[in-house]
Amino acid sequence: MQIYVDNAATTRISKTAIDAMLPYMDEIYGNPSSLHSVGQRANEALSDARERVAKLLGCEAREITFTSGGSEADNQAIVSAARLGEKKGKKHIISTAFEHHAVLHTLNRLEKEGFEVTLLDVHENGMITPEQVESAIREDTCLVTIMYANNEIGSVQPIKEIGGVCKKHGVIFHTDAVQAAGHLHINVREQNIDMLSLSAHKFHGPKGVGVLYTTKGIVLTNLIEGGAQERGKRGGTENIPAIMGMTVALEEAITKIDSNSLKLAKMRDKLIAGLSKIPHSILNGDRYSRLAGNVHFCFEGIEGESLLLLLDDKGICASSGSACTSGSLDPSHVLLAIGRPHEIAHGSLRLTLSEENTDEEVEYIIKSVKEVVEYLRGISPIWNDMINGRKPFVLKG
Ligand SMILES: *Cc1c(COP(=O)(O)O)cnc(C)c1O
Repeated sequence: MQIYVDNAATTRISKTAIDAMLPYMDEIYGNPSSLHSVGQRANEALSDARERVAKLLGCEAREITFTSGGSEADNQAIVSAARLGEKKGKKHIISTAFEHHAVLHTLNRLEKEGFEVTLLDVHENGMITPEQVESAIREDTCLVTIMYANNEIGSVQPIKEIGGVCKKHGVIFHTDAVQAAGHLHINVREQNIDMLSLSAHKFHGPKGVGVLYTTKGIVLTNLIEGGAQERGKRGGTENIPAIMGMTVALEEAITKIDSNSLKLAKMRDKLIAGLSKIPHSILNGDRYSRLAGNVHFCFEGIEGESLLLLLDDKGICASSGSACTSGSLDPSHVLLAIGRPHEIAHGSLRLTLSEENTDEEVEYIIKSVKEVVEYLRGISPIWNDMINGRKPFVLKG
């Protein structure tokens, strides 16, 4: 038996997406830049994909740039806005402490170049308010970049309102929507979004392909120099099979958003109710403004890595949080950002659902997590100290 509940790390590619990709690896293998008919067929597919993705986001085809994924889109969005700001003497950027590393590390690099970065504090429930953004905006602010939905704790930000504040002050607004695209309804114009990143493998599309939406008027800076692909803003022969797979996967995911959200939220709420019964545990992320498939807990007196390995033995593929921090001993920067102390942040568990999960799996997960947490606490000297009153509990029982 294998239960996969790590869909925030990646999803299984859908059958429809695979079928949409195959012809572009086989009979329609041309290079879209070639002038002959084989190339032109590929080029037509590329234009068609761009139109379709634009329609799904509520923008124009020329505002869509295909990238190698979410990380590249984040990098290019931030660097581009920074270069535009620099030209006007504006070198201040606003973001948050719980962004993905694709955003945080790009900001670090700009700081070394002399940019000033304000990272907004995240409230304990994993939320940022438009008021916080407004009070941080200065004369020299060139960019606000705030994620749509957090990849660890699943909290969903008031994007339209934050975008409205940016618009009012004439500041570019970028959002890393990698966890939101295909899971929440997005319309970039209605939501005041100037730049947006998404990645296909988070909504049952292929890996290694994504989109950067950039509102017309914002000129992109190249990360990759080369040919005239993507209006000259990203060199390299386009990955047509992946782009076609992504387009179909996004259409499919958006068609199913409402029914899937209902189904996932039911399973999520059952998991939350079941796991909350474990003493000295806490749910991370807002209870209501939350991705339908996200469950994220901290258990006191537990080492997250041990929990994951034992769950894996029981056939459950889960995560302690971000795939990018696993393998390192540092606690998650997201959990520290919402104020969890180090020892609590270490005992984290993220379960992220997809439509393929079932109620029976949910029951089994609740039972298994309870067993494993109890077992690990039983062999922990620190836990022993806590139940014997030699060390205080941090989380309520
Ligand atoms: C997965 C993820 C990324 C990175 O996307 P890749 O396509 O894997 O590069 C960026 N931001 C968030 C919020 C993510 O969840």
